[in-house]
Amino acid sequence: MVEKCDILIVGAGTAGTYLGWLLAKKGFSVVIIEKDKREDVGKRLDVIHFESDRIEKAGIPPFQVGASDCIEIRDVSTVVTPDFKKELKIRALQTIVRLTLFLNKMYKVLESDGVNLEFNCKFKNLIFEKSRIIGLEAEKAGENIEYRAQLVVDASGKAAVIRTSLPEDYGVENFKLGPDDVMYVLLQYIKWKNPEEPHPAIDTGYNWWLLWFGPSYEPEGAILGVGQPGSFENARLAREDFLNRANLPPYEIIKKEQGSTPYRRPPYSLVADRFLCIGDAAAITYPFSGHGVTATWVLCMIASDVIEKALKNGEELTRDVLWDINVKYFRDQGAKFAGLFTQLSGVLNFNEKEWNYFLKKGLIYQTGEGDDIPEPNKEYEEEMSVVEMLKFIFKILGGLIRRKLSFKHMKRLLQANGLAGKIKKHYENYPDNISQFDNWVKIAQELWDQKRLAIKRLSTVQIEYH
Ligand SMILES: Cc1cc2nc3c(=O)[nH]c(=O)nc-3n(C[C@H](O)[C@H](O)[C@H](O)COP(=O)(O)OP(=O)(O)OC[C@H]3O[C@@H](n4cnc5c(N)ncnc54)[C@H](O)[C@@H]3O)c2cc1C
Repeated sequence: MVEKCDILIVGAGTAGTYLGWLLAKKGFSVVIIEKDKREDVGKRLDVIHFESDRIEKAGIPPFQVGASDCIEIRDVSTVVTPDFKKELKIRALQTIVRLTLFLNKMYKVLESDGVNLEFNCKFKNLIFEKSRIIGLEAEKAGENIEYRAQLVVDASGKAAVIRTSLPEDYGVENFKLGPDDVMYVLLQYIKWKNPEEPHPAIDTGYNWWLLWFGPSYEPEGAILGVGQPGSFENARLAREDFLNRANLPPYEIIKKEQGSTPYRRPPYSLVADRFLCIGDAAAITYPFSGHGVTATWVLCMIASDVIEKALKNGEELTRDVLWDINVKYFRDQGAKFAGLFTQLSGVLNFNEKEWNYFLKKGLIYQTGEGDDIPEPNKEYEEEMSVVEMLKFIFKILGGLIRRKLSFKHMKRLLQANGLAGKIKKHYENYPDNISQFDNWVKIAQELWDQKRLAIKRLSTVQIEYH
């Protein structure tokens, strides 16, 4: 059996679903194949957070609190210092979503806009003609199906089943995610045994341990989450260190989930001849949270416009034609994320005492009380006025003089910030002329090679951030 369509997407997670929807609304024939059953997609995670402002920008149908797929819409979170002495309020615009229910709601929307969704349908291999992708083979209920498409999109999540199977010289790096390229996340859905006893408020972060208490669907419950690179064992030991110190009231664990989220730079190019990768398959996540869902929607919006223009002009979707996706993505969000990812290595290097100082002095988050809590920086830009910059410098100097901060770690922070600035700028100059790409990659690689390892020392474990 041979099926034809304009766009063939592999993976009906949040990335593939969103891109498929955008392209179908533009009038193209879209098929999405998904290996799981319709009602099971996304089941590995139950409750998940979306950045509320990004939902609106993406044009996703608004969430209704109390509907089956939306638990809550929040705008304030709490951050606690590692010595447990101070709680800070920060603005964080989060919509708390039940993933599988959300996806199933979206599938109906997609189908009404003409997308053909094929569940229980697994990608097997690519089909090439004259060294270009022209389609793929998939298997559904023991039967082979051949798809022919103008574009094949890898939205298969961390497995990146298509990208990792590309020939070495096809134009997109085919690396697999190793233990140092992901954050291993452990989630425990908990219920407080004596809810009247003081316990961490919903949506409280203990960032020194990269640990948080997120909202759950249980009224007297929370989700205790922790994420660390290297291994699940690192995450477990970080949680153990926290629990030894936190003095929590008793709770029971109702359910556990675990998984990993990309924590590395994306491939230098996201496109090749008749090929695009998005979502976890392209390692696109917010550097400071590891969230991936809405981060990739930005890329999908860019990609759908470029693809529309090319197809309407009757062009073949070659690497050259799709190149604008790279240029538009990497010069903007890609550059900001690359800069933030590099900055993070400077911040992660601080020890516990320094982390206390940074949080208490408001050097990491913009904090406040009540209506005074500043809006978060939705576009991930560092915009400091001269006055703010001076205040920042005085606080740092004060910390150094009073030995709350070490010169060695401050030097590392400044080095990381300097490198972050260079990397961001380099991505902002992403070449629009493909002939300059190899040289651009060479310089990018030299810059990334300067990013230094950060090490966190907890009483239970020492964790490396690459
Ligand atoms: C514990 C944990 C908590 C997280 N919390 C958040 C959060 O709160 N907010 C947030 O934004 N992000 C969060 N993330 C990250 C987020 O889950 C991912 O970034 C996001 O789901 C990626 O979406 P995706 O569509 O790219 O991939 P996926 O959701 O992985 O979807 C890929 C789909 O492809 C299918 N597939 C794979 N192989 C094949 C094949 N061979 N043939 C056909 N189909 C295939 C899979 O079955 C899957 O349905 C979290 C991650 C973890 C591990």
